[in-house]
Amino acid sequence: MKRLAVIGDPVGHSLSPLIHMTWIDALRLEASYESIRVPAGETAAALDDFEQQEFQGLNVTLPHKQAVLAKVTETSDAVEAIGAANTLSRLPRGGWRADNTDAPGLLTALARIGLSDFSDKTVLMLGAGGAARAGLFALDRAGAKIILLNRTVEKAEQIITECCSRAHVSGPLGTLQEHADHADLIINTTSAGHGGAHIPLPDGEGRLFYDMSYGTPAEAQLAHAKAQGWQTEDGLGMLVGQAAESFSIWFDGVRPDIEIALTACRTSLEQNV
Ligand code: NDP
Repeated sequence: MKRLAVIGDPVGHSLSPLIHMTWIDALRLEASYESIRVPAGETAAALDDFEQQEFQGLNVTLPHKQAVLAKVTETSDAVEAIGAANTLSRLPRGGWRADNTDAPGLLTALARIGLSDFSDKTVLMLGAGGAARAGLFALDRAGAKIILLNRTVEKAEQIITECCSRAHVSGPLGTLQEHADHADLIINTTSAGHGGAHIPLPDGEGRLFYDMSYGTPAEAQLAHAKAQGWQTEDGLGMLVGQAAESFSIWFDGVRPDIEIALTACRTSLEQNV
């Protein structure tokens, strides 16, 4: 029996157990996946404890995505560049390996809606927090030109330097209207929706507005984007995409069915409104 879990605080709202158990059941695997609350400051002790209890894999959410790095034995290149991990796998010789599957998860989500070639695309990204770092890493390596706008402009400049292999444009969020004309799509990585706010958008003319948030926090922003003529998509595809990458790491390359997990998540969110 493979023991898996997501750790975080809060973690009760996490859709990860639903996503992974949907795949474990569909593929009739001998595995379990649970959510475990680990308070901030207890990351290192918890990882020792999970190793003792023979957990083989962990997803890591706030507030531990950076804290786990002090405790792991191996890190992927993505983790080095992004500075955060969301997936840990127990190494056969002991200790943990850290991966970041948010970056490929975003590319999976965009490919699912028909966007996979970024070589001639200009992406306007809003926000410069942890989610933006993963998005930047993915899109920079995929060949996109990126314009990164953030309320705190210094943070935008800093994360381009840290996460990208090429130079990109950065600026304050207030310049969105003037940059939007040059963008093929917008990716919103801000958490503005969690506070009930939305970012005002110009006319979308049928272009894609991808919001990394989902459920209630995404509603006002997506409604506004749609009203402004943007084609819209929420962040559930990325959530399921990153979960699929983690699953593949833990189950020797098995690629689970994205659509059954997406349907399960959408049904769960509708039932919990
Ligand atoms: P962070 O707290 O690290 O970053 C938040 C960002 O939002 C910062 O750039 C901040 O700007 C900006 N921001 C916050 N409030 C406002 C506002 N009112 N107006 C404008 N900008 C604002 O959060 P994360 O990066 O971890 O998460 C961001 C979003 O992405 C969340 O909705 C989260 O749920 C989602 N997410 C989705 C994932 C998925 O798989 N779909 C994975 C990870 C995250 P400033 O720097 O100025 O403070």
